[in-house]
Amino acid sequence: MTEFHYSVQGESLGKAPRQPVERYGHTYPLQNIIYFCPICGASWASIITETESLQFRAWHKTCNSCGGTGSLFRLYPEELQELPRLALEREIFIALQDATAYLSLPN
Ligand SMILES: [Zn+2]
Repeated sequence: MTEFHYSVQGESLGKAPRQPVERYGHTYPLQNIIYFCPICGASWASIITETESLQFRAWHKTCNSCGGTGSLFRLYPEELQELPRLALEREIFIALQDATAYLSLPN
């Protein structure tokens, strides 16, 4: 299994193995992922393996500074299961913030 290092804005969120994703009848191969903000041009997060030579893929996702949520995923259960603990806690916190704002609940 290939281990990937998760990083957001230069801060390490840990390492965890990933497997190819199967969705809609298609298997997506493992790739290094760089999160690229289409507004300011920052590369603000990455999921990169240090043990294999894989292709890099840029995911266009708005960074926090430009109004994005900062989430790395769309909360697919199979992706959440693969996250290192710090990355999972971060995704849950972002989802709760979104829900709080959507429901107009007090912080
Ligand atoms: Zn930005």
